[in-house]
Amino acid sequence: MKTIIEPFKIKSVEPIRFTTKEERIAILKKAGYNPFMIHADDVIIDLLTDSGTSAMSAKQWAGIMDGDEAYAGSKSFYRFEKQVEKITGMKYIIPTHQGRASEKILFSIVGGKGKYFPNNTHFDTTRANIEFTGAEAVDLLNETGKHPEIRADFKGNMDVEKLTEFIKKTGKENIPLCMITITNNSGGGQPVSMQNIREVKEVCNKYDIPLFIDACRFAENAYFIKKREKGYGNKPIIEIAKEIFSYADGATMSAKKDGLANIGGFLALNDEDLAMKCRNLLIVTEGFPTYGGLAGRDLEAIAQGLEEVLDESYLQYRIRSVEYLGERLVAAGVPIIEPPGGHAIYIDAKRFLPDIPPEQFPGQAIVGSLYVEGGIRSVEIGSVMFGKYDEKGRLIPPPMELVRLAIPRRVYTQSHIDYVLEVIIETFKNRKNLRGYKIVYEAPMLRHFTARFEVI
Ligand SMILES: *Cc1c(COP(=O)(O)O)cnc(C)c1O
Repeated sequence: MKTIIEPFKIKSVEPIRFTTKEERIAILKKAGYNPFMIHADDVIIDLLTDSGTSAMSAKQWAGIMDGDEAYAGSKSFYRFEKQVEKITGMKYIIPTHQGRASEKILFSIVGGKGKYFPNNTHFDTTRANIEFTGAEAVDLLNETGKHPEIRADFKGNMDVEKLTEFIKKTGKENIPLCMITITNNSGGGQPVSMQNIREVKEVCNKYDIPLFIDACRFAENAYFIKKREKGYGNKPIIEIAKEIFSYADGATMSAKKDGLANIGGFLALNDEDLAMKCRNLLIVTEGFPTYGGLAGRDLEAIAQGLEEVLDESYLQYRIRSVEYLGERLVAAGVPIIEPPGGHAIYIDAKRFLPDIPPEQFPGQAIVGSLYVEGGIRSVEIGSVMFGKYDEKGRLIPPPMELVRLAIPRRVYTQSHIDYVLEVIIETFKNRKNLRGYKIVYEAPMLRHFTARFEVI
């Protein structure tokens, strides 16, 4: 088989500013060893997130000029609405400025003290928006998904038995809705199978609980279903996506991921009463329901992006480029979550740095080192992001300590990725020199964004 090449040519470029290792040591220290505090201009390859970092196509940029900025009833909204309807089949499409705004609106209405929301794995903003209302966010990931070293096709699947048990124990009246996140971002970007979505829906139906999809990477998930699940090999991506959404009663989406846009999101709903409540809240917090916190041009870019993301040659390149990075890391002995997920490679920090305990944040230590060695920005997904404290103030670590290397869509070429590989492999060879961190400042919620660290 020949090399799968980028299915695009580059029309517009953005220069990268190079820094020296000495400069980066000083920059990292000044940033409190937190990658979120580093200026983007001081980063060589930015793998902090795949969110809002996509390169837009010529047609999306043309859409930016063509956007209709009418306050009410903009034609860009109707194009956006039509495209989201085409994919999700949902009746009520509500634009928001990004995914968490959809979550905020939804959970403000259905959340509250005494309520529980199961998911395969809640993304951090979803969890925060649920907990902010006093409700509880519960992760019911299948066992395989918790073991980075086990290779399986659908490690994002929800544990259906656990879900049934959970509903019986908690009482269906305390569960306003159940969610499935596709792909499972916090669990390694691993896909969820159609069969699992179908089974979860059956359980939800039995107990009369609506099923919502956290749809940020629905196209990547659909591509994995096409490649890995029996009976889907010949189905077009759009058909697979439609089937996924056919099992759902609603969806939250960040268009900054599979919308191939730099900003935006939506809530898609079938329940008229809930849609009405969401729109009323939207008007207070985001804007009128035909723009929802976005400019008309943003809606145009998202509508176009949602067409392009269904293109199979794009998805093939997308999934392959992540897999390429993963394959070569595995070949060099670097421990990662296997198989590679859709949008990112996750380094398993526990196996990378077995001598640094979770209390000293091994993931954060790797993040710091990749920046110093090669100007690569990554992010910790482990005890910094999800750690809690017990009554005695001791850390309760999450099951995994990971470092995420998220790949922006259509931004970097193979030689950029080869450079990333060289830096990671070199860091891995010198891993004995890495030291743990301690937190010297943290905010009460979503602390990873603003925490400051010192090297132990
Ligand atoms: C990014 C993301 C969100 C939140 O979306 P934002 O646009 O960043 O607010 C929610 N869920 C998942 C799975 C995500 O990846």
